[in-house]
Amino acid sequence: MTGRGVRLVLLGPPGVGKGTQGRLLSALYGIPQIGTGDIFRTAVKERTPMGVVAKTYMDAGKLVPDDVTIGLVEERLAAADTANGFILDGFPRTAQQATALDAMMHRRGVPLDAVIEIVVDPAEVVRRLTGRRLCAVCQTPYHVESAPSRLPGVCDKCGGPLILRPDDDEATVVTRVAEYQRKTAPLTDYYRAAGLLRVVDGNADVETVFGRIRAALGEPVRPGA
Ligand code: AMP
Repeated sequence: MTGRGVRLVLLGPPGVGKGTQGRLLSALYGIPQIGTGDIFRTAVKERTPMGVVAKTYMDAGKLVPDDVTIGLVEERLAAADTANGFILDGFPRTAQQATALDAMMHRRGVPLDAVIEIVVDPAEVVRRLTGRRLCAVCQTPYHVESAPSRLPGVCDKCGGPLILRPDDDEATVVTRVAEYQRKTAPLTDYYRAAGLLRVVDGNADVETVFGRIRAALGEPVRPGA
């Protein structure tokens, strides 16, 4: 996939590896990864008006209202760095967001290339979420077992402190998964009908899953890569 750029959506419940795979895809194609959760977390940290609104929903494990989220993505996709494409990680999450994204793509005059749904067994999701750590400064994700930082508790990239995401506690995760099932899971049918859905088995290490995603996108995958 090159030439006209690449426009991808990553779909899947919390903890399946959207952020990690999004970063790898961003490096592969040289296009930005747009994580709505990351943008909201930064806004919360900076206490912007949007962050103040988003925080109450995020802390409860609920989705931020569509009008706020759609406005945010619309603005982000207008930035010059998306000219050659983008990877949406965590958007769309509702039918209304999916319809709004269609309208945005229509206005751009270029369609989405693919929607990658990452599927992982529930027990593995629990393992990933409980071991997940996040750099409080640059948001790089780590895992205490499978992707530890070189120095415990310190980000390899920027030296920032690694924290547990406040919404990764058990009760909030249950709500987040329920929100996913109710509001986001139906989007798989929507994108399957549009011929865009690629389902990828995420029950493997990061490199193996990345290889599967590349294969699903029709990219040549080098042996051992
Ligand atoms: P994530 O980092 O993708 O797990 O997102 C963290 C939280 O940010 C979610 O639990 C929601 O509260 C909020 N959020 C992220 N993306 C969206 C979205 N597309 N629509 C509504 N809320 C979102």
